[in-house]
Amino acid sequence: MIRKFLQRDQTEGGNAELGEQSHRGQDMKNSLNLVIIMSVMMMLAAMSCCGSATPVRHDFPRVGPYEVITGDFHMHTKHSDGKLSTRERVEESFRWGYDAVAVTDHGKLDGYRVARYVGEPLGMIIIPGFETGLSGKEHLVALNVPADHPIRDAHHWAESAGQAKAFYQEELKKIADAGGLVIYAHPHVGYREPVIWGIEQGIIQGIEYKNGVVGKGWNTTESHGTWWYPEAVDFALKHNLAIFGNSDVHANRAPDTSPVTLLLVTERTNKGVMDAIKARRTAAWFNGMLWGRKDLLTNILQSSVVAKSRAGKIEIENLSPIGLTGAAGSEKIDLKPYAKITINNTAKSVSIAWDNVWLDLKTNLTTQHKVQ
Ligand SMILES: [Zn+2]
Ligand SMILES: [Zn+2]
Repeated sequence: MIRKFLQRDQTEGGNAELGEQSHRGQDMKNSLNLVIIMSVMMMLAAMSCCGSATPVRHDFPRVGPYEVITGDFHMHTKHSDGKLSTRERVEESFRWGYDAVAVTDHGKLDGYRVARYVGEPLGMIIIPGFETGLSGKEHLVALNVPADHPIRDAHHWAESAGQAKAFYQEELKKIADAGGLVIYAHPHVGYREPVIWGIEQGIIQGIEYKNGVVGKGWNTTESHGTWWYPEAVDFALKHNLAIFGNSDVHANRAPDTSPVTLLLVTERTNKGVMDAIKARRTAAWFNGMLWGRKDLLTNILQSSVVAKSRAGKIEIENLSPIGLTGAAGSEKIDLKPYAKITINNTAKSVSIAWDNVWLDLKTNLTTQHKVQ
């Protein structure tokens, strides 16, 4: 995108030079130069403001019929308690390499129109969403409802019918009837009846393993080197929920630590994203770890890691943006994003046990790679 801006500036400068070299033309040229210098400075400021000098590359190899895309389905803007405008939030999401986002303000869908306006020309997929939940208890993120979905008593839903506040079952049904589904966000109050009911109804279809904002608060547990919801892993597998790593960002995102939801999509559209969630083709990538189901992660790793015979050794290449660590027998494997290593081995196939790819709290993924 930056290159595009530069090209446009250069083109405009070039056109100015075609005019007569009058004093006025020179002034115009000077002011154009000033504009160019200022825009370059602004771009440099924009690039350096947010902590990462290298652009985030989130491009994955294809996985069979699927494209692997990156998503974040929980974030806030000034429409609720976020610090950025919708435009700033979506542009920030683009800078950090997200393909699909949902702006999910508390009880509001107001950001959706601007999010589409900003994000779609950048090639992003914008899913309408909002955050709500039960009074003082579960927080729930609703996705894919129409932008005019009537939102009642957000975060104040009653646990039983006949109260002054909206009854959670009625509100969840309305979301489902409108074509939406719900994620159980930062599951800090555990796994109570409302969530079980929502799952049984097929309305709550996903859960956050990792929420980027809650830190050590909100009943997170420190495990596997970070604070998160490790008990959500067993719960998600038991109840067949889509797995999410979301930022829930309110202020500025930290580019290298912001959680990512990976999705295997058949098309880069809202439908493609929603189909992937409904089919549970998601995984969570956070704190240098990848968490998901065995089949899906096996397929991602099989596509991402290529082994080739090279002069009596094996070259292993990582085609993905995920740093991968593990061991092939006694050989340590440390594959940086998009990097190659060579190991002393002449076998026809190599089996790698991955330290940072997890199926459940105790099980790492091992994959087998044919040596080409
Ligand atoms: Zn929340
Ligand atoms: Zn939130």
